[in-house]
Order: sequence, then structure tokens, then C-alpha cells
Amino acid sequence: MNKEMYFIPSDIIKNTRPDYPYVKMAWVPGSTPPDIQDKMLEEGFSLPISPDIMEVLSRKPIAAELYLTRTCVLNCFGCSVPDFIKKGKEERAPIEEWKRMLEILALHTKAVKFIGGEVGGLPELPELAKTAVDLGLFTSIFTDGVPFLDDEEKLSTLVDATGGKIVLHTSVDVPPPNGIKNEATDKSRQFKANHGYELMKLAQKYKIPIIGHMMIHQPNAGDVIEIYNAVIDHGGIFSIGTMQKSVHLYQGREPKGFTNALRDEDRKLVQEQMALLIAIEDERLQKGQSRTLANSRAHLATMHTVGIDQNIGCTGEGRSPAVLAIMPDLSPRSCPVVLVPEQEKECPGCSYGVFRDGDPDWAEHLFIKGLYEKPVDREDFPSIFYPTEANNDLTGI
Ligand code: SF4
Repeated sequence: MNKEMYFIPSDIIKNTRPDYPYVKMAWVPGSTPPDIQDKMLEEGFSLPISPDIMEVLSRKPIAAELYLTRTCVLNCFGCSVPDFIKKGKEERAPIEEWKRMLEILALHTKAVKFIGGEVGGLPELPELAKTAVDLGLFTSIFTDGVPFLDDEEKLSTLVDATGGKIVLHTSVDVPPPNGIKNEATDKSRQFKANHGYELMKLAQKYKIPIIGHMMIHQPNAGDVIEIYNAVIDHGGIFSIGTMQKSVHLYQGREPKGFTNALRDEDRKLVQEQMALLIAIEDERLQKGQSRTLANSRAHLATMHTVGIDQNIGCTGEGRSPAVLAIMPDLSPRSCPVVLVPEQEKECPGCSYGVFRDGDPDWAEHLFIKGLYEKPVDREDFPSIFYPTEANNDLTGI
């Protein structure tokens, strides 16, 4: 098989994105922007095909992201789903096949996250979430909140079906209520964040833990503590991830998305705020107060000690991704960003660090490599983002 087909050749990148700083870029059907994909096909390359699910699972991932749909009516700037997928017709596997997939995943992983697109409005969500919970999987649902805020019964049905044993995730990348900075695109982020904050209030009513996830990128790189405070004020638990400088952003729906990627000068800002978050959480825990951070200490401390370093990841470490992804037609991906192991090996690294959150081996690896300042006087705080058997603690929330 020709290795070339897994990556976009540099001349195609130069011709389609003349101002993009060239880095090796994976070809991921369903994520690669259509104009680039068309060029690849014109040049006679064949579409890379999904890996075999058992091959992916044999590498012992800790969790799976389940894209029940990738359609969505919102238009968030940082979304990795291209418009032609988000607004197009998609092939979705029937519920019985998803259930069989969950049975397989339960034998090999600890956690599943239902994610989209927007999954909150899907009629099959309560039954699939129940199946996952019954199989003993830590089950979370990532939603923009709109379906549940529009029709609260959807949330009560979900809570009833699962016995409330779910965690909601929603993204909040700007502080409430009117943190619009300038561009029109920020309005969609504000809309989504406002719904996220509202959903946090609604989740309290059902006693469901809810994680407000901030994706840090250039325009909000200095807003971490403000958004953290807003999340906990609304009754949520805060988590944070960083956008990839290249692979993830470039695969995104917005061709100019990479201009919002974190720069080297943002590194210090990120590091300082991570140190502050760790200190705040330590102080809370020492006082016996509840957890407010969903991330593991390893995750935050890595951003604190290393900052936004893309060279931390599967690259060259002989490691495989901690989280796999399953698309709406049940085809698997090696990780939520790349498709096949050939691409992992040359992946520039994942600063979208939530993929590693909760992986105790990863924490150990960072510690040994000197990339993680392990605290000397207390235990790590465990991950609620992707908890594992060894690192799974919902007490104190
Ligand atoms: S999980 Fe691994 S392969 Fe996937 S984006 Fe991160 S570093 Fe790359």
C-alpha cells in the first residue's frame, strides 16, 4: 500500500492554502476539507480506509468517542467537523449495531463519550446511553445544550433511562453573558457558551454532574481563570483542552482556522494559568471542598510545565492514542484526529491533551520524562474527563 495516500503532499497544501505554514498533514476522509480531498483524488491518490476495530482495540485505548451523528445546526469557529459533513446527508448505523459496538467496547475500554455534531436531539440517545451504563462503561454526553434547553423532557428521559449515571459535557469558550470580542464568528461561540451555562443550571435540577469544557485558542488564551470562575459559579466542573497547532485545526471546517492556533507567545500565558488552577484546586481539596476541575493533575501540570508543546503525543514514543473514535457509520478512527496507525507514527503530537487525560500510564510517562512536576506532598487529583478504573473518582463532586 502506498504510504503517500495517508498524507497530503506539500505541493497540494501550498496550492490550496498558500499562507499556511507547512507541516505534515494526515488525510482523514470526513475531516479533510473537501477542496484538498478533491485535489488528492484528482492526483490519483486513493482514499485511506478505516482501520479494523479489533486492531485499534488491541492497543488498549482507555475510552471511545462515539460520533452518533456529525450533523449540527450551529456554526462554532473551532469545530472540527467540516460544513459539508455537518450540514450534509450522513450514513448512520442502526441502533442495534451501535449496541453491538458498545458490547465490544465494554470488553476493551473503560469509558465512552457520545459526541457529535449534536447528539442531544437523537431519539436513540437515551437507549444507547442506558446500554453503555448497563455495560459498566463510564458514560458521558457532549452537547451544546440546545436540545435539552428547548425540550427539558429530553433530559428527564435521558436521566430516567440511565438512572442518572451519566456526566454531561458542554463547551464554554467565552465567559458569560456578553464576552463577544469582535468577529462575527465569536457570536456563535457566545451563543454556544451561553447555552452551556444555562445547561449547567438545568443539570443541577437533575443532580447530574456537568463539565464545562474550554477549548483554549488564541483569542481566549488569557481567559482561563475567568471562564473557570464562570463555570463553577453555574454549578459546573471545569475542564480544559488546547487546540492543535496543525493537524486538528487544519482539519477543521474553517480554512482560516489555523490563524487562531496558539502561538509560542501564548505558552507562558497558558503555563501561568495552569499553575494557578492547580493551586486553587489544591487549596480547595485541602479545605475538604468539592472538586472543581475535571482534568487530572497530570494533564494540567503538563500544560503548566511544558505549555502548549505539540511534541508530546504518540509521536516517536511507541505509544498509541488513549482514545479512539467511531464515526456515525460505525467506522473507527485510531484517535479522534487521525485515521490509521501510519498517521499516528508521524503525528506531530497532540496538544489537544484531553485525549490523554485520565491515563495513569501517560502520567507516569510524563513524570519519567521530566515533563510533569508530580506533587510531593499529596496524591494526584484524578480525571473526571476520561476516568479509568485506577483513576476514577466522582466522589466529592
Ligand atoms: S492522540 Fe496521538 S495520534 Fe492522535 S492527535 Fe494526539 S498525538 Fe496524534
